[in-house]
Amino acid sequence: MASVLSAPHFHNEDAAYEFVEARLWPNGPTCPHCGATKEHVGRLKGKTTRAGLRKCYACRKPFTVKIGTVFEASHAPLRIWLQAIHLILLQQEGHQHPPTPAYPRRRDEDRMVSRSPYPRDDEDR
Ligand SMILES: [Zn+2]
Repeated sequence: MASVLSAPHFHNEDAAYEFVEARLWPNGPTCPHCGATKEHVGRLKGKTTRAGLRKCYACRKPFTVKIGTVFEASHAPLRIWLQAIHLILLQQEGHQHPPTPAYPRRRDEDRMVSRSPYPRDDEDR
């Protein structure tokens, strides 16, 4: 059985961009600088062109789908981000913690109680 991590968007940078673009731009690319929609946006292609690079013909600025997202400042390839996010989500699904009980913090009002019946965060480890 092939691992889900063998999906193309985890290994091919162009596929990674297409994967994210399909989710962030369901109606086609949108310029993050001026808001122009896909009619005014072209794809830059070339051997040295970065993956996912677009050009807005309205404001003439280049951009990628990463602008305005958590990926923007990162130099890590987008496909590596997708792998990491996928693994984190899998781990969260597998290790659901029971909800932490909510209790009022009464340290100042109720000094008679020396110990909370609930473990503090630092005692829980
Ligand atoms: Zn623009």
